Amino acid sequence: MTRIVAALTTVALATAALTACAPASGVQGGRSAASPTPAPTPTPVPTELRPGTNHSYAADAYAHSAAEVHAWLVDGDRAPHYPEQRVAFLTFDDGPSSTTTPKDLDILKAEGVPATFFYITGDKALAKVDPAVPRRAMAEGHAVCVHSRSHNYHELYPGRRADAEHIVADHDRAIADLRGVFGDGYAAGCYRYPGGHMSWRGMAPADAALADRGVHWIDWNTMTGDAEPAQRAPHTAGQAARMVPAGLAAAGDPRVAVVLMHDAEGMTLSTDALRTVIHDLRDKGYTFGVIA
Ligand SMILES: [Zn+2]
Repeated sequence: MTRIVAALTTVALATAALTACAPASGVQGGRSAASPTPAPTPTPVPTELRPGTNHSYAADAYAHSAAEVHAWLVDGDRAPHYPEQRVAFLTFDDGPSSTTTPKDLDILKAEGVPATFFYITGDKALAKVDPAVPRRAMAEGHAVCVHSRSHNYHELYPGRRADAEHIVADHDRAIADLRGVFGDGYAAGCYRYPGGHMSWRGMAPADAALADRGVHWIDWNTMTGDAEPAQRAPHTAGQAARMVPAGLAAAGDPRVAVVLMHDAEGMTLSTDALRTVIHDLRDKGYTFGVIA
């Protein structure tokens, strides 16, 4: 929990400082008796959603926008603000689920590592899961992005070509679903296309329509391979864990890692590999961030 605890402490100290200042200015500011006393500013709880974002107040310390992380993946150290130190973004698609997600959250909590969850908000995932699961992810310092409402390739990409109108309508319904869970303050600048942006044709109009909403898509540069076709898929957790450093090596050993995994119902390979994935990245000097 080191990073999350440190962030929580920072927020707690900052809010303590604000609280300490408030009465002093009221007493010493020479207000006349007729001046209305300003209402005290409520102290934000570090674990609650920071309105206008997809993460908690505490997670702000290690959150990076999807647009920025995307540029880091594509342009490497030619991109603005490319990190001096290694940073990894663990990402889970196709959840939440009642079975897999809580196990992943237990491991992430034990390791003190934040992750980014790309939710399917419709009947395939969020709609059938107890809202306590996504709310736990938020409270424990993770970020929640959109991975569509339907995850229906035929609707989103008829003939393998993006239907921009359908994609953004589906996206907007997903945001409404997430506001039902996290409150009206939930907003996300991050979107992962079902199947990945790299898999489809004619993406520019959909990309532009999302950008009009302040949303940027993000793919990945390495994976555990847990959703790969059978001929490429790993058979054991050890094989899945080894695919992550192998993918980074193939990408030229970048300082930014975006790791694709899945936490859909019944998908256990990445859960079983997760500790090894985290330890390997940490051994290579990576710290962990979330995508906003
Ligand atoms: Zn997916």
